[in-house]
Order: sequence, then C-alpha cells, then structure tokens
Amino acid sequence: MFGKKKNGAKTGRSLNLVLWFCFSLFAIVVVLIFTVVQNALVDRHYRKKTVENLETAGVELLGAIKPNTDEQEALRLFVEAYKTYGVSGYMLAPDGQSFFSDLTDQKSYPALAQVLNKELKKEGESVIISYGNTLIYATETTYGGQSCYLCVTKTLELLTDLEEGMGLISFVMVLVAIVLSFAASGFVAMLVTKPVNEVTARAKELARGDYSLDFKENYFCREINELSEALDYACVEISKADKMQQELIANVSHDFKTPLTMIKAYASMIREISGDDKEKRDAHAKVIIDESDRLTALVVDLLDISKLRAGFGSDERAVFNLSEEVYRVAERFDYLKETAGYEIETEVESDLYIHANRARTEQVLYNLIGNAVNYTGEDKKVKVRLFVKGENLRFEVIDTGAGIKQEDIPTIWDRYYRSSEMHKRPVKGTGLGLSIVKGVLEAHGYPFGVESEEGKGSTFWVEFFPAPAEEDAIKERTKEPAKKKKREKKKSSEDGE
Ligand code: ADP
Repeated sequence: MFGKKKNGAKTGRSLNLVLWFCFSLFAIVVVLIFTVVQNALVDRHYRKKTVENLETAGVELLGAIKPNTDEQEALRLFVEAYKTYGVSGYMLAPDGQSFFSDLTDQKSYPALAQVLNKELKKEGESVIISYGNTLIYATETTYGGQSCYLCVTKTLELLTDLEEGMGLISFVMVLVAIVLSFAASGFVAMLVTKPVNEVTARAKELARGDYSLDFKENYFCREINELSEALDYACVEISKADKMQQELIANVSHDFKTPLTMIKAYASMIREISGDDKEKRDAHAKVIIDESDRLTALVVDLLDISKLRAGFGSDERAVFNLSEEVYRVAERFDYLKETAGYEIETEVESDLYIHANRARTEQVLYNLIGNAVNYTGEDKKVKVRLFVKGENLRFEVIDTGAGIKQEDIPTIWDRYYRSSEMHKRPVKGTGLGLSIVKGVLEAHGYPFGVESEEGKGSTFWVEFFPAPAEEDAIKERTKEPAKKKKREKKKSSEDGE
C-alpha cells in the first residue's frame, strides 16, 4: 500500500521546484513585457519629438535664408538652429554638392541628392526621410540663383544607445528576478511545504496505527489547518473503530467458544454417558441443537454487519406497504402470547408506503420489536405504533422495561453487547441487533433514535420517508386489500372470543 503511494510520490514534482519555476517564469515574462513596451514607447516618443524639431527648424531656416543671404549669415543661422533644436543643416545642390562645406564632414551627398531628386518635384515641397541612422527634413528652395535642397538632420544614435542600454538593464533584471524567485519560492515553500510535509509524516504514522498523534492546527495556511483538523477527526474515529473492532473480535471469539465448548461437552456426554438413555440423550442433543442455533444466528448477524459496512444495506429498493410489513413482523411474535403471556399491541395507520429495501426494513422492525419484548417489564406489554408525523411516517416500539441509562444511549447502537441474563430472554439476541438496525437505517438515510427513562421503559423510533406515488405502490395497493381483509377478519374473530 505504501509502496504504491511512494511510487506515485516519486512521479510528482517537488513543490519547491514548481514554485521556483513559476516565480521565475512570472518574473521573466513581466520584465520582458515591461522592456518591450518601454522600448516601443521611448522609440515612438523620441522619433515624434525629433520630427517636430526638424520641421520647426526647417521651416524657420527656410524663412530666414533668402536666395541672396550671404554665406556667413546662412552659417550663423544654421549654428543658431543647432543650439536651439539640436539639429544640423546644410544646403545641397541637385548633384549632391554641399554649399557650406565647413558645416559637414562630407562635401558631397550624391546618394541623398538622388533620393531627394525623386521625392521633391516642386519648390516649397518638404519631406521627412530616414537615411541611415539619421532623420532628414528636406525642402526644395533657391539659393545663390540655383535650385537646391535645404536639409535639416538629426542622428538617432542616442535612441539606439538608449535601447541598447535598456536591453542590458532588462538582462540584469531577468537575472535578479531569477535570484529573487529563489528567495520568494523558498519563503513560500517554507510556509506551505514544511507544514504539508509535517502533516504527511504524521498521517503516515497514523496509517501505521499510532492514534496518539495530535495534528497541530496553528499553521499559517487555513487549508492546512483544515486538513490537520480533518486528520485529527479521522484519528479519533479510526481509533474508536479500531477499539470497537478489537472488542468485537474479543466478544465474538468468546461467544463462539462458549457454544463450541458446550457442543463438544454434550457430544462427549452422549457418546460416553447418555448414549443408551433416550431421555438423557434427547436432552443433551437439544442443548447441542440450541447452541448450534446460537452459533448460526451469530454468524448470520456478523455477515449482515459486514455486508452493511461494505455498503450493501440499501440495494434492491422497492415501494411496499410499510403498514402491512409492521403487522406481519408483529405477528411473528404471536407465539409468545400463548406460550409466555406477552401482549403486543399494534396501533398502525393503514396503507403507508415507503421506498426501501424490504428485507432489511423487516429486519429493523424485527430487531426493535424483539428487543422490546426482551427488555419490557413485568407486565410483558409492548406497543407498536406507525403513524403519519409531519412529512414522515413514524414507527415506534414502546416497552415498559427498566429503560436505558442516559450515558449508555449513544453507545447501544455500536456496542457489541450481550448481557449475562441472555438466557432469560424470550427472543434470542446476538448483541448485534442494534448495530444492524443502525447500519440499515443509515444506509437509507432515515432518522432514528431512542427515548428512555430509567425504571419506566424505552421508546425506540424510526422516521421513514413516504414513497412517492409510483407504479409499484399502485400495484401493492391492489394486492394488499385481500390480505388486509383476511387480517381484519382474524382480528374480529379474536375480539369475539
Ligand atoms: P442484544 O442482542 O443484546 O439485545 P442489541 O444490539 O439488540 O443486542 O441491543 C444492544 C443493547 O441495547 C442490549 O444488550 C440492551 O442493553 C440495550 N437495549 C436494546 N433494546 C433495549 C430496550 N428495549 N430496553 C432496554 N435496553 C435495550
């Protein structure tokens, strides 16, 4: 059993590792998203601002540099634009020759001139082009009697540098995130895995049969506290069940031993002493038969209990007439009227139907009425009632016996109990009757209980749920009247007597 669990545990991942992986992944994704979004925003903003500066400077220079402005003045205006807008400027002839060579490193831009020849057709037209790593604002104008282009440029090197810098920062941040994830997952693991491991270790001890464990319930996580609470409850219940099972085995073995010893002893007596004496032999054989019956009853009850525990208590349910069933079971005790003077009074509302396992219900009724007969008082009276109470059908068995001590009431349903005055009882019991009753009623979900007053007697009750009107019920109704009439006839003849 543990081997299996261990194999299962081996295939799973450590919570620590899972937490670390999730934290790292989360941090890396956040850093990457942040970097990409930031780069895009910075890029967009920088380009927009650059274009604005280029256009403003270009328009200003176009207005200030006239065709006859002398070279010195033009140069001063370009330097002014550089100071104000951070842009460089020059005049370019259509063949690519630069007018003010001392402003630029290169004297000729033939490739750029070719592009501008294509882009700009009319005077006054302007264009923004991306040329290499620079943005260029260009417009067609006339200078010194020659058609030319006024170019204002700004390099995007700063943006590239910035993006490279941010890429490096992101890389460092990813590394930091992975390291921090270690710390965070370690911390969370300490809060979660450690208590889970502790609870698991205790649960394993519990499985090995150590019921003295106490599952702590003061962990940080509520779910783990709830798990501890549930295991604590399981621990108490399992230890109770274990104790009961041990008691049951001890009592059952004792109860098997006694009749077996008797059977052996009486069989030996028949062989050695009473073999030829018919009267004695018959008496001894009767003891053997009685003890065998006791053993059979015990075995049948034990089988019933094990079946109920395995969950076979409520299968094969059908709708049937409970009123008739109560009558039928009560009639099974009729022989005690004649032989021992018992009086079983029935007060049963007719035609009350339930949907249940018929044989099991009969067993419940039989066990409860049988107990009442066994434990009723000197007057030997037992009353059986079945009536509609609210939405349910209440069955009651009332006796006038010694009653049950209040402290014993919760245990009589579970305990394997046989009192020493067993032989005095008119109905044979095995000490398992109420356990069977409990098993059946719980399997059906019917409420049940006992009200008892010491010295006055007990009332055992069950509340059955009425069956919904079903086809079976109608069939039952059509079958039952004949039997009912027969019973009524029998009753009136008894009254007549
Ligand atoms: P048993 O075969 O001993 O009757 P049960 O399981 O039917 O076994 O009952 C368990 C115990 O509950 C009985 O031994 C008895 O002490 C108590 N008990 C059951 N029914 C009654 C009753 N009607 N009056 C008093 N005590 C009862």
